[in-house]
Amino acid sequence: MGDGIEAEGITRSRGGLAVLDSISFSLAAGSLTAVVGPSGCGKSTLLEIIAGLGEQDEGTVSVGSSDGAGERLERCAWMPQRDCLLPWMSALDNACLPLVNRGMGRSRAREAATDTFVRVGLEGFESYLPGRLSGGMRQRVAFARTLLSGKGVMLLDEPFASLDGITRAELQEWIGPLLAEEGRTTILVTHDLDEAIYLCGRVIVLSPRPARVVAVVDAPDTEGVERLEAIASPEFIEAHREVAGHLRAGAGS
Ligand code: ADP
Ligand code: MG
Repeated sequence: MGDGIEAEGITRSRGGLAVLDSISFSLAAGSLTAVVGPSGCGKSTLLEIIAGLGEQDEGTVSVGSSDGAGERLERCAWMPQRDCLLPWMSALDNACLPLVNRGMGRSRAREAATDTFVRVGLEGFESYLPGRLSGGMRQRVAFARTLLSGKGVMLLDEPFASLDGITRAELQEWIGPLLAEEGRTTILVTHDLDEAIYLCGRVIVLSPRPARVVAVVDAPDTEGVERLEAIASPEFIEAHREVAGHLRAGAGS
């Protein structure tokens, strides 16, 4: 499952400010790619354009064989930084929303979502309202909702940024195997370089606004390796140093 993503010379201004400066990349179907860059450089703007929620001023972007914004929106699921759960709906019903929005009846949707709910580690919490769940569990519900959209492309915008370090590490360990199993084309925007290198096969490094691609760094294969062990390996430390160096160089130029 999944579509490849091709971006060619994407340029965008917002409110008179140049935000994206000729961004190009090519992501294979089913690949996991991290995007890192300074705050405000244009990462969310880039995801919005890929998802067809915003328009570029120049350049082209395609998801699978689709290059129109409406068709891209059909193919991409977007997980925003804020979990955006509806506070009056149970955890399971929140996760079911994409199914219900496609016209499935509520009880069939609940049934169809049960497996996914178990896979994200939320068995037993089906009837909880979001207000009774921890931040980490809310992100699990939001991720279940993203999976249940059934889209071939997942755009994850800093999904763990608001969590404490321990919960974030726990969620990284949890989501790694899930992403690998799913085989969907995934872009993960994150500030956490270890998260980027641990979870993704490649890391795209952006400069401060207007964002340009400073470097694309291959990450060592960490599939099946425990997080603490992976991040202590020499190849991992080298990749971390390389990404951090490009970030610094991008900021200095
Ligand atoms: P990032 O996700 O990398 O932190 P964003 O893509 O959210 O950055 O924003 C990039 C830049 O675009 C920001 O520096 C901000 O000034 C500008 N921007 C973001 N949203 C809007 C908006 N709705 N209207 C005008 N400018 C915006
Ligand atoms: Mg952002």
